[in-house]
Amino acid sequence: MGEAYAQRPALRLSRIGSLRRKRVLVVNAFFDDLRRDTASPNKIPQAMAPFYVAGTFRAELCEVRVYSEHHSGPLRDHSMLAWPDMLVLTGLNVAFDRMLHLSAYARSCNPALVVVAGGHAVRALPNRARRYFDYVCTGDVEQMRDVIRDVFGADHAADELTPRYDLVRHNRWLGYAETSRNCNFQCSFCTMAAEGNGYYKYALDDLRRHIVAMGPKPHVLFLDNNFYGGNHGFFRARMELLRELHREGRFGGWSAMVTNDFFVKQENLDLARRAGCRALFSGVESFDTAVLSGVGKRQNLVLPQFDVIRRCLDAGIMFHYGMIFDLSARRISEIRQEIELVLDTPGVPLPSFVSMTIPLLGTPYFRECVARETLLPRVKLRDLDGFTLSLAPLDPMDEAIPFARDLPSLRGYRTRIMRKTLDVLRRNYRSMNWFQLMLTSANAFLLCAPNVINAPLLFSRRPPKRSYVSTTEPIDPLYTPEFPVQAKFRDHFIPTMVTDREGMLASDLLLDYRPDGQRVGTYAAVRAVADRVA
Ligand code: SF4
Repeated sequence: MGEAYAQRPALRLSRIGSLRRKRVLVVNAFFDDLRRDTASPNKIPQAMAPFYVAGTFRAELCEVRVYSEHHSGPLRDHSMLAWPDMLVLTGLNVAFDRMLHLSAYARSCNPALVVVAGGHAVRALPNRARRYFDYVCTGDVEQMRDVIRDVFGADHAADELTPRYDLVRHNRWLGYAETSRNCNFQCSFCTMAAEGNGYYKYALDDLRRHIVAMGPKPHVLFLDNNFYGGNHGFFRARMELLRELHREGRFGGWSAMVTNDFFVKQENLDLARRAGCRALFSGVESFDTAVLSGVGKRQNLVLPQFDVIRRCLDAGIMFHYGMIFDLSARRISEIRQEIELVLDTPGVPLPSFVSMTIPLLGTPYFRECVARETLLPRVKLRDLDGFTLSLAPLDPMDEAIPFARDLPSLRGYRTRIMRKTLDVLRRNYRSMNWFQLMLTSANAFLLCAPNVINAPLLFSRRPPKRSYVSTTEPIDPLYTPEFPVQAKFRDHFIPTMVTDREGMLASDLLLDYRPDGQRVGTYAAVRAVADRVA
């Protein structure tokens, strides 16, 4: 568990006042990858952290509302922002600035508001976050209980954590849960390697309680970072539980994210299938051995990756995966050959997403980029989204920019994507059920036309003309305040910079990172500062 740093340690119940239930607004802050500003109601997966956070408050004493910008688009409801006594913000690294915007709006409406921030964004920048938020949570969701006790009193924290499924609005046919947290691997580009938290297993009783609380669902998606986790005993115990719940009719099927070592034992696939597993997602990242070794993803080298995919499909389980491309280390021609390899290999499904490798703050890959001096000048944190160039490409910019522009929709490959999808459907339609076939078909449209699937009939305002290079990429319109904010919050709308004009680490990062990209201090040091202040 990490630490909650209290910027204003004396924020207690007496300051919040009144006998009415405390009002809590939990917001998942989000910048859209494709720079749209509308809802994406069909996007899968949706963020679940806010609903777990909401479950830490005692419902009898706290009225909790959840708003997911990931699902519903930017939060623009002034009355909702003015409503809470406490605003809790979560988000990925890229959403740090959006968390600042939301806190500026809400604080301008209510100066007594308590703002709590957690998730990957503040774990990447804990010291910078302390300048803006009252409580900075660098640990797991349970840490919210400490904050609740401090602000509202111990009785306002729930005795046991149950996600607030009653507040979920998205994809009602699909339930989300997690059975574990973190990962037993440390791939160099992954936030897991930046945060270094140990693998955490939910108790089986808690897991059962969460799934029962969700209510019956046609399908459940387990959002663990690594569902397998390398602990075979824990895996077997969960398979027994899921088999039982499946028989009870709690869900029609389930899917999860696993690492490649899961596929080494055929028994794992058999157990999963019998427990109702219909699809697995695995981080393939690349079919190139040198690339996988380079990012420390040696677990993907144990079995040939195409064999893994075929094993999974032969077991009657759909295989989904993602691919990432590092333009600062590979030629575009080589990357195109890899895409062609996937398209030309019979029976191998399409990836569910493709993106450029992101130099996420705090990761070994980030430090490597700083050491290699491959970060471009004037890179903005908001642009570390996998679809904007933030690293100097090996190829000339006039080749890299069209590649980055076309990557999200794999423009140039659409006919072959459709042919490929028909091939996969033809080969597997006997062993797959309607749900699996539907997902396979949807994946093709998701790749070619993500907006049509994620946000049908929702039209975004046209964003400023994009450059696809962070150095020159215009900032989103969301950086212009949409309602009046107090002058002291105007700096919340200035983008957080990763690099300066020379491509060196920007001063915005230097509270948390040394110029060589190493972290300044540790979470323990942050705790020590908090204790001194208190
Ligand atoms: S296996 Fe996946 S979750 Fe685990 S560290 Fe690697 S990329 Fe991250």
